[in-house]
Amino acid sequence: MDKVMALCKRRGFIFPGSELYGGLNGTFDYGPLGVALKRNIMEAWWSLFHTKKRQLGVVALDSGVLMARRVWEKSGHLANFADPMSDCVKCKKRTRADHLIERLDNTIACGTFEQTVQAAAALQAQGRWQCPYCDHSPLGAPRLFNLLFPTKLGPLSSEETFFRPETAQGVYVNMPNLFSARGAVKLPVGVAQMGKAFRNEINPSHFVFRTREFEQMELQWFCEKQDEDKWHAFWVEECLKFVCSPEFCNLDPTKVRVRHHAKADLAHYASACADLEYCFPFGWGELCGVANRGDWDLKAHNVLHAVFKDQQVSCIEPSMGASRLMLAMLCDAMGQEEDHLVLRLGKNMCPTQLAIMPVVNNKPEVLAKTAQVYDSLAQALISPRDLEHLELDLSSGSIGKKYAKHDEIGTLMCMTVDSDTCIDGSVSVRKRDSGERVRIRVDGVRSLDDVMIAAAR
Ligand SMILES: [Zn+2]
Repeated sequence: MDKVMALCKRRGFIFPGSELYGGLNGTFDYGPLGVALKRNIMEAWWSLFHTKKRQLGVVALDSGVLMARRVWEKSGHLANFADPMSDCVKCKKRTRADHLIERLDNTIACGTFEQTVQAAAALQAQGRWQCPYCDHSPLGAPRLFNLLFPTKLGPLSSEETFFRPETAQGVYVNMPNLFSARGAVKLPVGVAQMGKAFRNEINPSHFVFRTREFEQMELQWFCEKQDEDKWHAFWVEECLKFVCSPEFCNLDPTKVRVRHHAKADLAHYASACADLEYCFPFGWGELCGVANRGDWDLKAHNVLHAVFKDQQVSCIEPSMGASRLMLAMLCDAMGQEEDHLVLRLGKNMCPTQLAIMPVVNNKPEVLAKTAQVYDSLAQALISPRDLEHLELDLSSGSIGKKYAKHDEIGTLMCMTVDSDTCIDGSVSVRKRDSGERVRIRVDGVRSLDDVMIAAAR
């Protein structure tokens, strides 16, 4: 993790939030490469869960971060969206009680708050309920802390509400807007949404794994209740495809597992849930959850009948966080070459697919040719996304240093321009994963895939 964090800062993927003023715990800012990587993740998610699923009935929504307080009363978040925490009597640090119980003895049930209190009391009786931060100081009994982020509206700040802790509620309250004009809604239908969500985490931890502000990518999939198990399995498979397929996030499948929640561990709205977990350097952590929310939310907001009439409806919700996925990808892709790190990100995820550079910096005709090759390639590329994945690198330093830098930021291919290019128009392409160099011609290239195909010959 230290290596990943150092690389992220050094190369401009992720910076600590408000660092100039000493930092703000649990917040992070994304630099140039982080923006590109996060965008690649979110656009890939959008293509798989929205665009390619439109023919199945998925539509798009972008609802507000701010919603009426009543939404959070009705959704159950005001009453139920809380974590059990224990305070150290000595250092006053706060610990997530259920997580500590799982670490101390994973055979003890702590799914409900009552179970967590009992488990903590049992461990206390054995003298094992101790602060993990300081030396054997006793911890207090678990208490519930709500995770909603309060804020105030208006010039007099008279009206209190909360930043959304999930994008899903924006979908439920818009169901009449989205579907009532369509007559009797035929199931299944889905609503996809991506955007910021906020949780007042007591212990933000593990870099961008648990932060107070994050990007969610969620689909609410409404199906007939009798088909809920079939669709739940379908969306678990789609999530697995998204995180493991080389076309998408490209995570090592042996480091990904599916964990089905026991009934006692379910969130207040869910009747079933399967998590996809990744084996991070700090242990297994949730990447993505596929919950069966039944008709809880539709009933809570009293929109079930208005939209679906007398049909029996279940809502299956695949939900993931972009920054958490990004952390998994960075951990998974990082490798060591002889004298430098290499990020073996999937082809569609790397911030730069092709970097163009001169083989030496001291020959004006080579420098001019490099700029010319870049310009003509940029002109020829048909897809605007390809242009974003193309970079002109005129930085100083030897070609070996530049290759090492591009390995570290995951650049798929480096194209070098030399004096032969000035004569016959051919360039050298070096591939990140094999280090192999091949000579190709760039006339006729219309996409970065064309370059890759030419370099594969
Ligand atoms: Zn302590």
